[in-house]
Amino acid sequence: MEVFQLRDYQQEAVSAVLKHFRKTNESAVIVLPTGSGKSLVIAELARLAKRKILVLTHVKELVEQNHQKYETYGVTAGIYSAGLKLKETQHQVTFASIQSAARNLDDFNEPYSLIIIDECHRVNLASPDLSNEKPNVQSKELFKDKAKDKAKEEPKEQSQEKESTLSNSNQYQQIIEKLMQVNPEVKLLGLTATPYRLGMGWIYKKHYRGFMRSEEKRPFEHCIYELPIRYLIKRQYLTEPNLVDATIEHYDFSNLRANASGEYSPTDMNHLLNKNPRVTQSIIEQVIELGHKRQGIMIFAATVEHAKEVFSYLPTKLSALITGATDNTERDKLIKAFKRREIKYLVNVSVLTTGFDAPHVDMIAILRPTQSVSLYQQIIGRGLRLSDNKKDCLVIDYTGNDFDLYHPEVGEKKPNSKSQPVQVVCPSCEFPNIFWGICDDDGYLVEHYGRRCQGLVDTGSEEQAYLVESQSQCDYRFVFKECPHCGGENDIAARSCLQCLEVLVDPDDMLKKALKLKDSKIIRCAGLNLTRVNGKLSDKGADKLKITYHDEQGDELNESFDFAKPNQVKAFNDIFSKRLSAKISVQLGSTGSFEVTNLEQALKLTNILPCPDFVIARKQKFYWRIKDRLFDYQGKYRKANELK
Ligand SMILES: [Zn+2]
Ligand SMILES: [Zn+2]
Repeated sequence: MEVFQLRDYQQEAVSAVLKHFRKTNESAVIVLPTGSGKSLVIAELARLAKRKILVLTHVKELVEQNHQKYETYGVTAGIYSAGLKLKETQHQVTFASIQSAARNLDDFNEPYSLIIIDECHRVNLASPDLSNEKPNVQSKELFKDKAKDKAKEEPKEQSQEKESTLSNSNQYQQIIEKLMQVNPEVKLLGLTATPYRLGMGWIYKKHYRGFMRSEEKRPFEHCIYELPIRYLIKRQYLTEPNLVDATIEHYDFSNLRANASGEYSPTDMNHLLNKNPRVTQSIIEQVIELGHKRQGIMIFAATVEHAKEVFSYLPTKLSALITGATDNTERDKLIKAFKRREIKYLVNVSVLTTGFDAPHVDMIAILRPTQSVSLYQQIIGRGLRLSDNKKDCLVIDYTGNDFDLYHPEVGEKKPNSKSQPVQVVCPSCEFPNIFWGICDDDGYLVEHYGRRCQGLVDTGSEEQAYLVESQSQCDYRFVFKECPHCGGENDIAARSCLQCLEVLVDPDDMLKKALKLKDSKIIRCAGLNLTRVNGKLSDKGADKLKITYHDEQGDELNESFDFAKPNQVKAFNDIFSKRLSAKISVQLGSTGSFEVTNLEQALKLTNILPCPDFVIARKQKFYWRIKDRLFDYQGKYRKANELK
């Protein structure tokens, strides 16, 4: 009997779970990279639990693996999995497959104290009303319809994977509800390497390092522990990846458009791949050449058709192809042969990204586009496990993905190819946010795409600080739509004001309306100039500040501010100072708000005064009077300097 010694971070993860559930029953997630030994953490938690616990996973291999790790402690646990031909629930700890458990809910009538879900990123959000009611027909129908729709728009290979995810998630919901009926105090813990999913986003709401991932409902409430992959590589718990840029050919997937769930359509990909018929062949020739001394090579293809082509260029006897359509027996057989190293090249289409474990893999070729850092890490993670005679893992990316293995997940779609994750410190609470942004050649931040600070600020007493109700998201907004009724700041996509609940005018409606009016003028603002207008020349007053907004063709609109008049100083500050403060604080790292009090000060702002995207004016007798300035515009009209 071999008893494992927990590594320091595994011990930390276990302690975090105990600490969390001592305080609250709210659901929690721990994030551990592939290869960090999740099954050992599960085993330790199961060992420490005094009452009944249920460990759920979606594949029988993981049920077996987790069960086996647990029994190395010299204790017995049950297995509940039709695939493994066992249906035991009499032990204190049960390792179950979600499919089998959900199909036999009546076997789970005893009170359980803890449910652990391995690979918990597969748990979807329930339909909105599911949480209040019994697993109802309506929600099942909802899921089914979605699965059907998906199947219609995408070829079989992906819809299979998707359908199983959808029905799985409904199954998770069913078993959780069942166990909650028996014991309302049952606790829910998820484990995953990738707490972020394309289309859905983050699977939890709050992170223990004090920030908010989502304002919306999520499958889990808290992330209570997270270990970066870099830690494991540095401590040599994982193999060093040797990342190489493809030297000869590569694909250009940059023009692909993702669908609502963040994925690319196989039809589009095939179309793109077929345009350059020789590329795949020369890539595979290079893979074979560079892989000459490698033990196990995994190739990630973009579509089934693409995978078949890749496969056709490989030595037949040494290669295998696994897609969503490969049947289970065949798949098991091929994976076993690969693990025994009878097969050297394993080609697959997005089916071997999780729950697949062949430590000897020492080369990975990426021939498919990846849409998130998480997915990229998952793919590379297949080659980072430790194994005898393995010094590193060669990773070649033939797609120009331009992801960095160590980059944090930003949680939004990359807005453009120039963007990279940047740190933006909140001027209000000083939380270091990670947003997409653009830096200049010297590494200085030029622009970022963050909207609202993600920091969590305490609103309750220290004692309650941990609970959901007493912590709320910092309300600092880097960009905002100002409410014309109360002056409150709202997200740029908000439909009504958070503070006064008044309806906020949609900027597109505003533009549409102005376009229809004969006596109105709209400038697609490309920049602004500040000049001093001599008061003595125009009228008896003091010098004024003149702002000239101009569009790409040089058409202009003007307005001026007299800093001798308090109401005009206020008007200027109402328009600009909040945005100006945000800009200054991000660029200079300073905090606090910035108000302009005199003309000299205002004139110095030429290069930094925030420029609106659109300026709308109405015709007066002798001049155009500016009515609205649209800042931080996001809508259907093109902004200046954007591609037409
Ligand atoms: Zn903040
Ligand atoms: Zn308001």
